[in-house]
Amino acid sequence: MSNQARRLPAAGDSLTTMPTQRPRALKVTQPVALSAVEIHKSYRKGRLEVPVLRGTTFSVFEGEFAAIVGQSGSGKSTLLHLLGTLDQPDRGEIWLGQQSVQQMTASARDRARNQDIGLIFQFYHLLPELSMLENVMVPRMIHYGVLAYWRNRGKFVDRAKMLLDKVGLSHRLTHRPNQLSGGEMQRAAIARALISEPSILLADEPTGNLDSENGHEVMRVLSQLRQQENITIIMVTHDEQIAAAADRTIRLVEGKVEA
Ligand code: ADP
Ligand code: MG
Repeated sequence: MSNQARRLPAAGDSLTTMPTQRPRALKVTQPVALSAVEIHKSYRKGRLEVPVLRGTTFSVFEGEFAAIVGQSGSGKSTLLHLLGTLDQPDRGEIWLGQQSVQQMTASARDRARNQDIGLIFQFYHLLPELSMLENVMVPRMIHYGVLAYWRNRGKFVDRAKMLLDKVGLSHRLTHRPNQLSGGEMQRAAIARALISEPSILLADEPTGNLDSENGHEVMRVLSQLRQQENITIIMVTHDEQIAAAADRTIRLVEGKVEA
């Protein structure tokens, strides 16, 4: 199939240039940040193959805050790992904007994972021996390597401080993770996810370990950053109340998106 035919539709496309495999749910009104097209994923348990995703299809538009909800075990984390290019589907395609992740070279996929996508998880995965400021800069250190990191460190410090200020932690720059509350740690993890200026933030149960007050604070911070940083957010949660903070809810039932 030619590249032209594989391309996802964008605003301004004429009908004749649309690909044949266009997801049915897609409205051609806004640029698409990310699409999942007929995603299948199973796990092996001994000789048994356990299907988790069975043709999951949806699109999220640029600047949108989408919540994917489903019961525990419905495949939300599996799906988010696939969207974050941390794992590969058995069948189907993930599109980042106009690019199919499955068509990318391994190095292009690594670049997309490091530069275009920020990730946050239920447990914050902060490094206990580093300060908050240093934790937020870790992805830059990994990406640039030690020498280039130190040459550019001033720039990274400025952005890390700006992000920590936006998540309400400018008074916690030199603190270690064990000196922070769960809500503060998750807000620091959000700042770390945004240090590389990604266009998409993926969040797996970001409030799952927080009480309701801290959970809502994290949602408020996410909503604000979505606008200030001009990002698309895709969050998975089993919590309907938390999902209500998003623009749109996508429901995962038996491995498919509920119509
Ligand atoms: P959710 O995040 O919605 O709770 P998951 O995506 O974590 O769901 O898991 C979906 C199903 O896949 C569950 O039944 C889980 O036990 C199974 N599963 C998840 N990861 C693995 C794995 N690495 N190996 C085998 N089974 C797995
Ligand atoms: Mg999960």
